[in-house]
Amino acid sequence: MIGFKSFADKTRIDFPGGMTGIVGPNGSGKSNIAEAIRWVMGEQSAKNLRGSRMPDVIFSGSADRRSLSMASVTLTLDNTDHYIDTPADELLISRKLFRNGDSSYFINNKQCRLRDVTDLFMDSGIGQGSLSIISQGNVEEIFNSKPIERRSIIENVAGVYKYKQHKLTAQREIDETADNLSRVEDIVHELK
Ligand code: ATP
Repeated sequence: MIGFKSFADKTRIDFPGGMTGIVGPNGSGKSNIAEAIRWVMGEQSAKNLRGSRMPDVIFSGSADRRSLSMASVTLTLDNTDHYIDTPADELLISRKLFRNGDSSYFINNKQCRLRDVTDLFMDSGIGQGSLSIISQGNVEEIFNSKPIERRSIIENVAGVYKYKQHKLTAQREIDETADNLSRVEDIVHELK
């Protein structure tokens, strides 16, 4: 990333496999790292990034440094296992934003639409709204949540949620069909 929030200089952070925890003093930029990842994956709400307008993510200057005019983040994903359903072994997703509001997205250095980025992560469990990034607030939320809410988080991660939705739809169709069948039986009865 470069010019994103407190990261004025070009900064590269490696995330090895498994789970990564980011620790550091207050105000050192831990949340900004998580926000950079959510931003490059297509976050559209400035509020979710603790700003009021999207250009608030651009480095706004410090005591000894002028503000910058552009923020840019690139997320490089090792896709050799083709976890994300595309033939590429490596995926580079980039987003750039200028102070005048001009913004662009790139997949493997080719300019694309926001939609292409969101489609890429669809059903992968790693999109911008997913639980693959857990912020401080989320941890508290999980601790303080009711067992039923906690269960729904676990079901979501385990992929059970989508089957529950399918089950509800199927049950609704079964009920409708049973109603129709009962109506047909009434008509048959009347005709006998
Ligand atoms: P905490 O542990 O207190 O939650 P943190 O390590 O998560 O802190 P962040 O919230 O990521 O820290 O970073 C906050 C710092 O980022 C603040 O010093 C803030 O001034 C700086 N910052 C945020 N947006 C910008 C910006 N656009 N330009 C420059 N600095 C910024």
